[in-house]
Amino acid sequence: MRFGTTQIHVDPGPGALVRALSHVPPCNPRELEAIVLSHKHLDHAGDVNALIEAMTSGGFRRRGALMGPPDAFEVEPVVLPYAQQFVQRLERLEPSGGPYHIGPVELRTSMAHVHAVQTYGLHFAYEGLRVAYLPCGRYFEGLAADYARLNPDVLIVNVLRFRDEMNVDHLTWEDARSIALDIRPKVTVFQHFGTKMLEAGPERLAQDLEDEIGRRVIAAYDGLRLDLDTEVAAVAD
Ligand SMILES: [Zn+2]
Ligand SMILES: [Zn+2]
Repeated sequence: MRFGTTQIHVDPGPGALVRALSHVPPCNPRELEAIVLSHKHLDHAGDVNALIEAMTSGGFRRRGALMGPPDAFEVEPVVLPYAQQFVQRLERLEPSGGPYHIGPVELRTSMAHVHAVQTYGLHFAYEGLRVAYLPCGRYFEGLAADYARLNPDVLIVNVLRFRDEMNVDHLTWEDARSIALDIRPKVTVFQHFGTKMLEAGPERLAQDLEDEIGRRVIAAYDGLRLDLDTEVAAVAD
């Protein structure tokens, strides 16, 4: 994510470094202010060590911040101890924590998600724009209310499953839909789709919800770029 000139890499999964470099214009890891993990699962953190190496020129220039739940750094750490030494600041996030400061950007965390490892949602605020990221986890009573508390303009939601055929710690489309209806952010972006979600047609589902809610709803795809200021400004209050 880019807020003004502040670059923050959230959840660098497998291929994150290669994609950052092949991005047009390239996202130069040496200009990264922070790497933030919502949780340590490999689809969210597989490239974190490579990205830290790139951010710090292989540890030669100690710089940048690394933030995430404590278990990403301690129990079976996904961030290897040698790479933890390379960053200037290592921040163990607390649930419902913050504000943590990343240059001019403020970061607050959600309450703990119900997921196999410590998982927190991320609320970014910059010059009046509030962007929330709701990562993986099982639906529970009070989840939407916790996110609504900080009144996000933009809500990014990970929705893996279309229907709940297996009992897993992930949102279904129905869960994600009800969260968007409860919070009614100006812009909702859905991502992190599993096979059944992709087969169900995320674009059409997003369009139906947009018609119902009267606010912008976007189904993300690989490589999608969004100018959030423009998207938010296009939605009437
Ligand atoms: Zn996960
Ligand atoms: Zn995930």
